[in-house]
Amino acid sequence: MTDSDDHPSPPPLAGVIGQPIAHSRSPALHHHWLDTYGLPGAYIPMQVADKDLEEVLRALPKAGFVGVNITIPHKVKALEIADLVTDRATIIGAANTLIFRRDGKIHADNTDGYGFVANLRHAAPDWNPAAGPAAVLGAGGAARAIISSLLEVGVPQILLSNRTRPKAEALRTEFGSRIDVVDWVQAGNMLEDAATVVNTTSLGMTGSPALRVPLDGLQKGALVTDLVYSPLRTTLLEEAAARGCRTVDGLGMLIHQAVPAFERWFGVRPEVTEATRAAVLK
Ligand code: NAP
Repeated sequence: MTDSDDHPSPPPLAGVIGQPIAHSRSPALHHHWLDTYGLPGAYIPMQVADKDLEEVLRALPKAGFVGVNITIPHKVKALEIADLVTDRATIIGAANTLIFRRDGKIHADNTDGYGFVANLRHAAPDWNPAAGPAAVLGAGGAARAIISSLLEVGVPQILLSNRTRPKAEALRTEFGSRIDVVDWVQAGNMLEDAATVVNTTSLGMTGSPALRVPLDGLQKGALVTDLVYSPLRTTLLEEAAARGCRTVDGLGMLIHQAVPAFERWFGVRPEVTEATRAAVLK
């Protein structure tokens, strides 16, 4: 294939933009898939300051980029910069995936909620979201994607608790009456009714404080998942497994959210396998 100047087209480029970015596992993930499918292309981590974001995004397509992932702290600003936005990105209020269209427009999507649900369906195929209420811990940026996707797949009720209660109240106002806010000091109580339990806080992550919510109320057979994936087996998951709950770690969400973007940029829908997980953990 050639471009308009009759030069061979260079391999497609994608990447991830954040600040900081060195910790990102996305380059290992996308390069694993490029290698697996023998595709040309590259995926590059880029540290970009807030004030430079728009200028960088407008320039990248001219350098051969077909799109980028967006991570902390740019997810909201990227949505504002985009020319076209998917419904799910609008609902979540943030973008994690940008597609640079041939007509020069930036198309923003958010695949976090998709990745969350796809991970649960992949790791726990018998999970039934309609089986009972979901208990969600945390009301930060990630919680928005989790709440919208849980509502979309038919969870009858969400019990939502956050240290800063007004942030949970704001999500209730926005997402509607299927959400009930529970005070943070009583978060343990909401586990008693929950068929699905999700930690969307950063508690339990390496370098962060422990999650101190009492877990005695966890019901045997509930599905418990943690967005934190460092460590892979968090204390929440270990304790839940010891109580007879099914547990799903957060690494799968990171991997599954990347599937639609990889397909769009590089033309192959990649499979999520044990080798994929191993490549990301390396
Ligand atoms: P965020 O917007 O900063 O929200 C952080 C959340 O943690 C808030 O609910 C915050 O409560 C709570 N929190 C922080 N410190 C706390 C403390 N000491 N006590 C009680 N609550 C505390 O972050 P985010 O983007 O939502 O990310 C949250 C976590 O999810 C991070 O660990 C991130 O790595 C992980 N994540 C994983 C994936 C994946 O693919 N697996 C995707 C996205 C995010 P307040 O509102 O009270 O501050």
